[in-house]
Amino acid sequence: MRYDLVCMNCGSVYDSSYDAQVCGTCGGILEVAYSGRMPKVKGTGKFWDYERLLPDCAYRHYELGSTRLIRSHKHSNVFLKLEIDNPTRSFKDRGSVVEVGKAVEAGKAEIALASTGNMAYSVAYYAKLAGLRVRVFMGKGANKDKVRDIRGEHDAVMDFVNGDFTKAQALATRYAKKTGAFLAGDYCYRKEGQKTVAYEVMDQLPETTHIVVPVGNATLISGVFKGLREMKAAGSIKHMPKIIGVQATGSAPLIKAFKLNKSVEYVLPRTAADAIAVGFPTFGDQAILALKETGGSTVAVSDAEMASEQRAFFNEYGMVAELAGVASLAALKKLKFASRDKAVCVISGGNV
Ligand SMILES: [Zn+2]
Repeated sequence: MRYDLVCMNCGSVYDSSYDAQVCGTCGGILEVAYSGRMPKVKGTGKFWDYERLLPDCAYRHYELGSTRLIRSHKHSNVFLKLEIDNPTRSFKDRGSVVEVGKAVEAGKAEIALASTGNMAYSVAYYAKLAGLRVRVFMGKGANKDKVRDIRGEHDAVMDFVNGDFTKAQALATRYAKKTGAFLAGDYCYRKEGQKTVAYEVMDQLPETTHIVVPVGNATLISGVFKGLREMKAAGSIKHMPKIIGVQATGSAPLIKAFKLNKSVEYVLPRTAADAIAVGFPTFGDQAILALKETGGSTVAVSDAEMASEQRAFFNEYGMVAELAGVASLAALKKLKFASRDKAVCVISGGNV
């Protein structure tokens, strides 16, 4: 689809040749705004079935399959969307294929990004396939196993930052501005890729009433919301499922803001679930909108609850998920569904 980029903060409009991922006027987050009406698209099990719903890109460098949706062994009205089926075992791949494609199209030789782990793992994987260099900014407390794999398997150059993800993100942005590297991360192109989770879920289970997602930087939740909104506008679905955002008890800025009906404010993240250890979600305001507009809610889960769910998930399904990956399952104990409800829990990542 043809598109422009619109600043969510000041309203500045850029055409699709603009290759910085933040607003040149105010530094705000951009959103992909399509020129035409969104088409109705039915997936057949391949990521690029949804190409007509994504920003036009001259370079498609990798084919993804869809991920499985399986019924929960414990609850008949709960389904698991297995994003661990993706090549680098997290939902990030959906955004990375779009984003790396745009970097190649823009003629970039290097990609810079901040990450808590999974995003760098995913971006570095596709960048390597496309022949681009990668520079990753990570907090010093980053997951050691993920660091080893990003550096060892994918040849990324790593910068360790004395601080958390939010600090790393500021440094990645500065580096990209200085060197002309393509700034990857939780920005507009990635969100377009992430929204295909919602399209796939509604194709696989059209009667879905709830989508339960873990929230770190809030790209997944806001991507799911954008996808649902587009489907509703196109007439593909009549009602949007309720979106339920799950955060770790020790890193819950979105939950706090939603409960107090305020804007999101930074909190120092304290959780072992590194993939959702984000103190100030980039798409926090849009996540709040997603919760309000779909009539959704939030749930906080402790590290111990996630750890227990991680073991249960392995025992029941024989699959490995990371702590954040099972946050949606840990949230089930605190949610009530009616017998006719069909809830989809997104199992977001499995890098442990
Ligand atoms: Zn702006």
